[in-house]
Amino acid sequence: MKSSRADIRCDVLVVGAGPAGFGAALAARRNGCDVVLAERLARVGGTLTHGLALTPVGYEPFRHWLAATDPAGWLVQGIARELHDRLLRAGGVCKPVWDPEMYAWLVETMLAEAGVRLLLHAGCVDAVHEGDRVVGAVLALRSGLTTVRADICIDASGDGDLFARAGCAFEVGREADARPQPMTTASVFGNLRLDWGGATTYADMMAWGRDELAIRLTEGRAKGELPPIFVGNLFPYFAGGRIVRSQVWCRMVQSWRNPLDADDATLAEVEGRAQLQTIVAWMRTHLPGFEDAALIQSSMAWPRESRRLRGVATLRETDVAGNVRRDDGIARGACFLEVHSATPGDPEAERGYAWSAAKARFSEDVDYDIAYGCLVPERIDGLLVAGRCLSATHIAHGSARMQATAMALGQAAGTAAALAQQGRVEPRAVDVARLRDRLRHVGARV
Ligand SMILES: Cc1cc2nc3c(=O)[nH]c(=O)nc-3n(C[C@H](O)[C@H](O)[C@H](O)COP(=O)(O)OP(=O)(O)OC[C@H]3O[C@@H](n4cnc5c(N)ncnc54)[C@H](O)[C@@H]3O)c2cc1C
Repeated sequence: MKSSRADIRCDVLVVGAGPAGFGAALAARRNGCDVVLAERLARVGGTLTHGLALTPVGYEPFRHWLAATDPAGWLVQGIARELHDRLLRAGGVCKPVWDPEMYAWLVETMLAEAGVRLLLHAGCVDAVHEGDRVVGAVLALRSGLTTVRADICIDASGDGDLFARAGCAFEVGREADARPQPMTTASVFGNLRLDWGGATTYADMMAWGRDELAIRLTEGRAKGELPPIFVGNLFPYFAGGRIVRSQVWCRMVQSWRNPLDADDATLAEVEGRAQLQTIVAWMRTHLPGFEDAALIQSSMAWPRESRRLRGVATLRETDVAGNVRRDDGIARGACFLEVHSATPGDPEAERGYAWSAAKARFSEDVDYDIAYGCLVPERIDGLLVAGRCLSATHIAHGSARMQATAMALGQAAGTAAALAQQGRVEPRAVDVARLRDRLRHVGARV
């Protein structure tokens, strides 16, 4: 491919500016590397901003999460905690929901403060190899194709775009049939007249949305008046430090199309938007307070799962269920196994308990270690992986995919990349005891 502009050179290239890429870029930079962070879309944040997944979890076991627990006790600390605390101080957190505008602004601020070179509108379209070693990536920039050369690359694209192009082995979806969890088009409806049952706290408003609004939607679905939506919860919107009582945010539209297929990925967007028009029309005539409802915003159809690396280690459901601790752990997992069913139309998918047959065996008091090897490709050098495309089984991924975990994995990958780059060794040769010490030294919990 021909580049239209001079090559960029850096110590560490991070592909994807979601939670994992943010953690990775910041950690590598704070450990002394010159870092380029390339994001294909127009803003940072990944699933939170573009998928409107506004409730980051994974900081501590879920059953404690809605309570006012002391952040000092959370299992995930480090950069993930730092971002939370700064966002809280700025007025961008109303537990459990985060303001996506303030979040994107703060992430971009923190990257700039550290001196990370952020490139937006910068999709990675190819890997640059020397034998079995990745030495960079080709980015499609607004100005044309550009090659970025780096000593170490980190794939934090969620979908494993870089590692797939670099020839790494990977899995997709369920081991039996390669079907991943469904994608979701999230949405915000506004111009509502809701009294929220007189509730004043966010938690009570959420409960009212679940008990008064979701039940009616479930009935509409049962009567065939609505598409086969997931009803889940209807959350009050939160922005600018205020609960926006006239708007609800929800994640009703699901798509089991293949996120890695060009036609399917297009149809997921088009079908999702069409479903939302049906839903808003139904709401106007069936939900009290929604008489003048407007569809204010829809997200991109965002994948929960697509490619997962085949790494030198693999996280398994037994590690999660058994709360397994490891000497080579570089991040803590704290969320239960939330696997939305990969079977198209499966009503179990709604609650994220596709593992319900096994649920009785699995505790929700989750606290396990993720091994460094889950970020290291089996064979290819020069490359680390962070976030939801880590090496894990389909079921274990249902826990490790959460946003706080993704930031912790990113921090570990960025720190490991710095150790590899400065020690002139491959990522697979990084001294894990030293990596853990380095992470602990800056407050991460490993
Ligand atoms: C509908 C839905 C609801 C969810 N709900 C929750 C929740 O309530 N709480 C929670 O904690 N987690 C939730 N999750 C999961 C969680 O948000 C994600 O798993 C998490 O954000 C993963 O972080 P990541 O950085 O690995 O990937 P992503 O957030 O997917 O970010 C990847 C980034 O890489 C970019 N990218 C992709 N390809 C390229 C490329 N080729 N070149 C350059 N950039 C690229 C993307 O644009 C994106 O910005 C949800 C996920 C979905 C889909």
